[in-house]
Amino acid sequence: MTVAAPLLRARNLVKHFDLRHGLARLVQPQHGHVVRAVDDVELEIRRGETLGLIGESGSGKSTLGRLAIRLLDADAGEVRFDGTDLLRLEPAELVRLRRRMQIIFQDPYASLNPRRTVEDIVGLGLRIHERSAAPSTRDRVVDMLERVGLSAAHLHRYPHQFSGGQRQRIGIARALVLRPDFVVCDEPVSALDVSIQAQIIALLNELKRDFGLTYLFISHDLSVVAHLADRIAVMYLGRIVETGPASRLIEAPAHPYTQALFAAVPRIDAGGERPPRLQGDMPSALDPPAGCRFHTRCPHAGERCRRVEPAPIEVAAGHTAACHLHGDGV
Ligand code: SF4
Repeated sequence: MTVAAPLLRARNLVKHFDLRHGLARLVQPQHGHVVRAVDDVELEIRRGETLGLIGESGSGKSTLGRLAIRLLDADAGEVRFDGTDLLRLEPAELVRLRRRMQIIFQDPYASLNPRRTVEDIVGLGLRIHERSAAPSTRDRVVDMLERVGLSAAHLHRYPHQFSGGQRQRIGIARALVLRPDFVVCDEPVSALDVSIQAQIIALLNELKRDFGLTYLFISHDLSVVAHLADRIAVMYLGRIVETGPASRLIEAPAHPYTQALFAAVPRIDAGGERPPRLQGDMPSALDPPAGCRFHTRCPHAGERCRRVEPAPIEVAAGHTAACHLHGDGV
């Protein structure tokens, strides 16, 4: 089997937020003032695949998604998109490349301008990138609306006239109208009812197949990611702790954090012994624990875990976990 070349590759990616001028000191004066949202992350997304990025809220997933398409500037590291180093691009070059990299946001209520019609919202990218004349823009907007299950009848309506699921369809149309190669889907169904979630997931799968898209699909919900992902990366407190093929990672998660996340998902075939559920809250990213960042919640933590940060170890073909249990022991 040939493995597709990476469309996106991030190396040693770092993003810290300095809150010195914010409220962090008042709220948590015992901690530092730098949120280590993304801390030395490696990520590879192959052309045509869906990489599911999972983790609890506050793990750094959304920040990583924004760094991947340079909606945020990294403090250090490298992001290569189709061979081009995004972090070194001049603004005009970045704008040109940006049409190939789009994002679908979590909240379909907040991410659409309430004062713009659907035609304006979906056609904005075409007007910016192609300076298309109005009639041809409208044709392409209508074509895209039909691809996402809406129609020309919706062109002149405003976001408040739609349901949550329809708004997310508008957000998808806006992201795909420029026919990008790569789309960051940032919790795109989290704000929707379960029945609507299934429809939007089916739509995203269909559009991926028809348009040959590559997705970075961010979610805290494992059951959602399991429906879409070819591979899964698990993030905890700014670090990737496990990556692997989705089927393998679901069947045999190797990192105790991933095991605990999966233990919390209800399963019909819940036979055999299940790992313990997650205990306690995730520590603050203002002051992450030394050694393995998961050691404060890990049922297997030993003395070595508190001192030495584990490096990723290959536990099977294409499957890595950063945990001492798979290396020199805890
Ligand atoms: Fe648990 Fe230690 Fe593995 Fe971290 S390195 S996940 S604390 S066993």
